[in-house]
Amino acid sequence: MTKIEYFDQKVETASQDELAMLQFQKLEALLKKVSASNSFYQNKFRSLGITPAEIRSMDDLKKLPLTVKREFEEDQEKHPPFGTNLTEPLENYAQYRQTSGTTGKPLKFLDTRESWDWRGKVACYILKGVGVKRGDRILFPFNFGPYTAFWITYEGTYQLGNLIIPTGGWTSLQRLQCIFENQATVIPTTPSYALILADTAYENQIDLASSSVRILMLTGEPGALVPGIREKLQRLWNAQCFDYIGMTEVGTWGFQCTEEPNGVHIIESEFIAEVIDPDTGIHVHEGEVGELVVTNLGRACMPSIRYRTGDLVKVKKGSCPCGRTFRVLEAGVIGRKDEMVIVRGVNVFPNVLKNIVESYVQAGDEYQIEAFKEKGIDEIAIKVEIKDEDKREEIKRSVQDEIKRKLNLRIEVKVVPKGTLPKSDFKAKRFVDRRKATSNTLI
Ligand SMILES: [Zn+2]
Repeated sequence: MTKIEYFDQKVETASQDELAMLQFQKLEALLKKVSASNSFYQNKFRSLGITPAEIRSMDDLKKLPLTVKREFEEDQEKHPPFGTNLTEPLENYAQYRQTSGTTGKPLKFLDTRESWDWRGKVACYILKGVGVKRGDRILFPFNFGPYTAFWITYEGTYQLGNLIIPTGGWTSLQRLQCIFENQATVIPTTPSYALILADTAYENQIDLASSSVRILMLTGEPGALVPGIREKLQRLWNAQCFDYIGMTEVGTWGFQCTEEPNGVHIIESEFIAEVIDPDTGIHVHEGEVGELVVTNLGRACMPSIRYRTGDLVKVKKGSCPCGRTFRVLEAGVIGRKDEMVIVRGVNVFPNVLKNIVESYVQAGDEYQIEAFKEKGIDEIAIKVEIKDEDKREEIKRSVQDEIKRKLNLRIEVKVVPKGTLPKSDFKAKRFVDRRKATSNTLI
C-alpha cells in the first residue's frame, strides 16, 4: 500500500465522538450568525417556532427544518436577484456562481472571501484524498464560466501550491498537446470529457496511455464509481480514476480515496450528512438506503442547512483502509430520488443501466437512456450509436443479456444512426426523463 498523505490527519482520523464535537461547535457558530442576520433562515425557524438556542447537541439537529431547492428558487424569485439567504451585507460578497439550471431558473450563489477560502480548503481534502502529491501538475481542461464545477478544485490546487495549467477556450487537440508538452500529471474533468479527449487522441494518432497523466479526478456525473467507466478510462489514459461529488447548493462534500474503489468519504469536518427516509423525513438505520441531507459548516454567509439533495445513498459499515474515519457512502450516489423508474415492478436507477451500457460501448460511441410512460406505466428505452458496424449486433445483444442477468428485466436496445444522439463535452445528457414530473417532496 502506498503511504497515505492526509490534508489534516488529526481531523481525518479523529474518533466519531471527536468529529461530532467538532461538527457541533461549527454548527453552533453557524446558527448564531444566521439567527442574528439571515432573514431567510430567521423566517424558517420562526415559522416552526424554534430558536437555535434549543439546539444543544447533535441529536437536536433534527429539530431544525429541512430545506428544499424550491424554497431557494422562490426566495430568489420574490427577492431578486440574490434572495434573502444572505447573512452579511451585500458588499462583503466577492464571488458569484449559479447552477447550470437544466430544470427551472438557475439559482445564484454568492461567497465572501472567507467562504471561498473555505471552499478551497474543502478541495484540499479531496486533492490529497485522491493521491495528489507535491510536484503534481494539474491541468484544467474546461472554460471558467459561472458554474461552480472545477473552480473549487482550482482554488484548492492554488492553496496546496501545486502548478495550475488552465486551458479554457482551447480545443481538445490543443489541450492534449498541452498535457504532453508540460507533463501534466492530474486532470480534473467530467467522465464524458475524459472520453472525448481519448477519442480526439485516437483520431490524431496520439498515444494517450504514454502521457504523464497519472490521476483523473472525475466529477459532474458518475465515473470512477461505475466499474465499466472506470476500467475504460483507466485503460485509455493509463491513469488512476477517482470520483468527487458535490452540488452548487452545498459545496463539494465527498471524494473517493485511493484505497476504496467502491465508495466516497463524506468530508465530515466541514459538512454534516444525514440520511433520511424520503417519505417520512426520519433518519434511516446505518446501511439502509435513504436521501442525503447536507448542512455545510463553512458558508455561514449563504448557508444550506439540512438541505435535501435528492440523492439516494447508503452508509457503508466498517472502516476504510486509508485510515480516514470520515464515513463512506457505498457506490457514492446510488441514484436521484426523482430518477428512479419502476419497470414491471423492478426499481431501476439509470446509473445502473449506464454502467452496463458503458462496459460494452467503445470510445466515441454514444447512448441515451430514456424513461417514459406507456399506458400509465413506467418504461425504459435504450438507444446506442455504434461506430463499428461489425460489432453492432454483438454489443446490442451483450447489453440486453447483461441487463437481463443483473436486473432480471428485458429491455430492448435500439441501434440508431450516427449523429442521432446529442454529444456534449461537459455533462452528456444520457438520461432523459419523459415521464410527467411527480412530486413526493416532503417539506
Ligand atoms: Zn478511505
